[in-house]
Amino acid sequence: MLAVPALIGSLVMPFVSGPAAVILFVFAAAALAMIVAHDVLGQSASSQAGTAGPLERVVPDLLLRRRSVVPGGIDGLPRDALTGLPDRHALDIVATSAMQEADRHERLVAVVTFDLDRLTDVNGCHGFAAGDLVLRTAARRLASLSPELVVRSTGDRFVMLLTDLAERATGELAVAAALDRLAQAVRLDGLREIDVHTSASAGIAFYPQHGTDLAGLLQRAEMAMVEAKQAGGRRFRVYDEAMIRGLRLRNEMERDLKRAIDGRQLQLHYQPQFELHTGRVVGFEALMRWQHPERGWVPPAIFIPVAESSGLIRPLGSWLIREACSACRSWRDRGHDPTMAINISAAQLRQEELLDDLAGALSRNALEPDRLELELTESLFVDPSEIVMRRSLEQLAHMGVKLAIDDFGTGYSSLAYLKRLPVGKIKIDKSFIAGIGSEDVDEALVRAIIGLARTFGKGVLAEGIETEAQRAFLAQEGCEQGQGYLFSRPVPFAQCDRFFEPDPLAVRRTG
Ligand code: C2E
Ligand code: MG
Ligand code: MG
Repeated sequence: MLAVPALIGSLVMPFVSGPAAVILFVFAAAALAMIVAHDVLGQSASSQAGTAGPLERVVPDLLLRRRSVVPGGIDGLPRDALTGLPDRHALDIVATSAMQEADRHERLVAVVTFDLDRLTDVNGCHGFAAGDLVLRTAARRLASLSPELVVRSTGDRFVMLLTDLAERATGELAVAAALDRLAQAVRLDGLREIDVHTSASAGIAFYPQHGTDLAGLLQRAEMAMVEAKQAGGRRFRVYDEAMIRGLRLRNEMERDLKRAIDGRQLQLHYQPQFELHTGRVVGFEALMRWQHPERGWVPPAIFIPVAESSGLIRPLGSWLIREACSACRSWRDRGHDPTMAINISAAQLRQEELLDDLAGALSRNALEPDRLELELTESLFVDPSEIVMRRSLEQLAHMGVKLAIDDFGTGYSSLAYLKRLPVGKIKIDKSFIAGIGSEDVDEALVRAIIGLARTFGKGVLAEGIETEAQRAFLAQEGCEQGQGYLFSRPVPFAQCDRFFEPDPLAVRRTG
């Protein structure tokens, strides 16, 4: 990364000096900052502003300095009917020459795969003509960077070849610029002007470090692209060896998780949620636990993403809903009426079966829908244009289940959704609670979030309360509810009865 300003500098410095050189260096540093923003935040300043940023202007020039690798060109080859890009067969021809050229001049070739996020949603919500327009626009945006070659490989996948690279940073810079362009809105024509927001993820494999034939490089670029997607999308990843090991582990975990669902290795633990000023239990959060026969306890932060990407979240989620509702029923039978909070991931929210699962479990256990509170992480709300998601939230609210925003404060979304979406409660992320008593900034943030919740008429719960000082601060600031190790860790169902004692916190303190 640090090579980037130096790289741009080395291209321009021989020709300029004095103030111009200083300006160009600042310019290069800005380009670097944007790449870092891509990697760390997964989005870029220029894509938000919708204007051409420094990356956009510098990259075509960088790439134009290359030698062309196919002297006769590829103009005679067939083209993709939708986008007008060269047919994917051009890849073989250009890649072979590019690798030979790279060997001769000791240069690098970058094989880059791009995958558009959520094209299926665009097709579903706006029709196939809109999807086609998004694809054509993406093709044009990629081609406008003047790479050696860009083709559409399948559906919403593109492959780009960058040749004659002196170092990896040049390729990374170009890919960052491409993602920047792909993240800009596409305007649909029609009666109403609608902007569609799609973005893309990319993976890069470099010749010769990561492979010596096109098939291997493509496979590795693809692997890196999947990692970029799993890290939240809107970013790129460069292939590295650890990805193969990670993939193997992932495949094993997927296989074991399938067995775990049938083999009773999964359990639910429940963490009580208290009303802070009375100490009364108001609800429980159901948290999944996996006891792996060889690996021992596997935390949900590891296996939930595997379940999401493999589709296993569907049977896992159905099981959880059944189990949690039947726990709620048992408590109700003994005269207690806590709410049950369950965590729902984006993958579940997109599935229509979620509504059926909820309705089925509620009716089997004769529970009112408002006994269930679905916790959705803030990152789900990043892109409010995701219509499928919004529709699904509205259907859930219509059904009568409660909705809460989990890990509030950790996302980087616009707060406008607080006004628009049917969410009743905010859960302040535990990282802010941890700073109470030591970090003024965290205390100020917690205070601000409580104020925000009040302004929007939402309930507010603090998660991760570990000390009496944190509890006292939150109670004094008017935070209504809390959960955390101070009160109890998540425990199996059999250990939950004590929380229904008249003074559960006193019980906890003495025993
Ligand atoms: P979350 O929903 O934010 O859950 C709270 C996490 O904080 C839990 O970790 C809980 O054990 C932990 N925690 C509770 N009190 C304290 C405390 O005082 N201090 C600290 N340091 N931690 C505390 P857990 O059980 O490991 O779950 C991690 C995440 O995995 C959850 O975060 C949730 O996002 C996800 N998860 C867990 N179960 C499920 C599930 O059934 N479905 C889905 N989709 N996600 C789940
Ligand atoms: Mg949660
Ligand atoms: Mg949380």
